[in-house]
Amino acid sequence: MTDYSAMRTQLQTRLADLLGRAEVIEDDLRQPLDADFSEQAVDLSDDEALEGIDEVLRTEIGQIRLALLRIENGSYGICSQCGNPISQGRLEARPIATRCIDCAS
Ligand SMILES: [Zn+2]
Repeated sequence: MTDYSAMRTQLQTRLADLLGRAEVIEDDLRQPLDADFSEQAVDLSDDEALEGIDEVLRTEIGQIRLALLRIENGSYGICSQCGNPISQGRLEARPIATRCIDCAS
């Protein structure tokens, strides 16, 4: 079985970066609220806060979490469509890939 620990580290670093950026976006959304509205801000549910996060950012966070999950359960690097191994080069270029180059094209 291939050791994906380097890939996992890379994905985790990327995930932390994306989550950090998501937090900055959330902070920006709260900017117009002054002290009088602080209670209102606290009342915002996580879902509502997430609505402000860029769709692309959210999608990538989801994809990275999925990739990390696949590393954990041993399905990482296996095409989800045909079951063949995904080439190392493809995974390096696109660590979140869940399908081999043939199935993705
Ligand atoms: Zn495939």
